[in-house]
Amino acid sequence: MDCVFCKIVKGEIGCAKVFEDNDVLAFLDVNPVSKGHCLVIPKIHFENIFNVEESILQKVIVAAKNISEKIKVSLQADGINLIQANGKVAGQEIMHFHLHIIPRHEGDGLKLHGDHPKIPKPSFEELKSLAKELI
Ligand code: ZN
Repeated sequence: MDCVFCKIVKGEIGCAKVFEDNDVLAFLDVNPVSKGHCLVIPKIHFENIFNVEESILQKVIVAAKNISEKIKVSLQADGINLIQANGKVAGQEIMHFHLHIIPRHEGDGLKLHGDHPKIPKPSFEELKSLAKELI
């Protein structure tokens, strides 16, 4: 399998590691959008949220919390974005589940969502109706 994150897990490609345990690896993104931008991945290959094992997902999110706390202190971040994409249409580029940790600073000007078309504001009734369809 030609997966860059699996190669990082195996040590075939180097990374700037910030956390590792038996199930989870976290490292700095080579194309950071802000200083300290890192990625948290399960060591086992799962493509995305639709097939990642729940027990592993729990470990990933707990690691993300701990790393975020460290980043907040060490980089004096004012906030943190956690971002996770599933599928090409959603902006997923590496098809190995990963969670972005993006440190934010007051006035950093970072626009993570870019310009996007807005859908009409739904009524409360429409929201309630959609919520029923989703559960
Ligand atoms: Zn992989």
